[in-house]
Amino acid sequence: MKTIISELDKHYGVKHWKRWREPVGELVRTILSQNTTDKNSLRAYANLIDTFKTWDEILEADETEIAEPIRSGGLANIKAKKIKKSLMEIKKREGKIDLEFLADYNQEEAEDYLVSMDGVGPKTAACVLIFSFNFPIMPVDTHVHRLSNRIGLVTTKTREKTQEAMKTIIPKKNIYSFHLNLIEHGRKVCKASKPLCSQCFLTDFCDYFYENFKKTS
Ligand code: SF4
Repeated sequence: MKTIISELDKHYGVKHWKRWREPVGELVRTILSQNTTDKNSLRAYANLIDTFKTWDEILEADETEIAEPIRSGGLANIKAKKIKKSLMEIKKREGKIDLEFLADYNQEEAEDYLVSMDGVGPKTAACVLIFSFNFPIMPVDTHVHRLSNRIGLVTTKTREKTQEAMKTIIPKKNIYSFHLNLIEHGRKVCKASKPLCSQCFLTDFCDYFYENFKKTS
């Protein structure tokens, strides 16, 4: 594990944590990122916060009004509904639309709080916790799930199971950089359709490579 982490750091650079955005913004941004590219979801997020000045304004708006500025991210109607529902739930629980108080919770409590919200799954919760607060938790998206299984770090069928397993195998101090670098490796080399193993620097540590190329040679 240590060598894989350091190889990824060597090739893609060590990433140092910085806050991406406040937690409600991160929650909304993660909802917008579902089933689309970073570029499209970032544009949708920028349009949304440009159209509405506060979270309360979004809460008061119709779903159709929320869907309009987020069209570029796809599934606009579904995402508008989810965003409104999440904001409504935070307001109902806290009396205001703010999640900064999670900084005072321990990781488990903060995670439990978020996943107890309707429509918030483990990956969304992990994104809020790591990107807004630097809690050492690994959000497992499709790239992380695919690579972790190909390399052999885990043997899991679902992203949720991978995320659970990751809690015990990645040293806490490496999680942020490892997460971002693994995604970069998934986009550039270990692609979903066909891994470019001949261009990969992780062949010596990879179960997929061993099974498909080395074992038979
Ligand atoms: S060796 Fe192939 S399967 Fe393994 S991480 Fe590299 S690209 Fe992915």
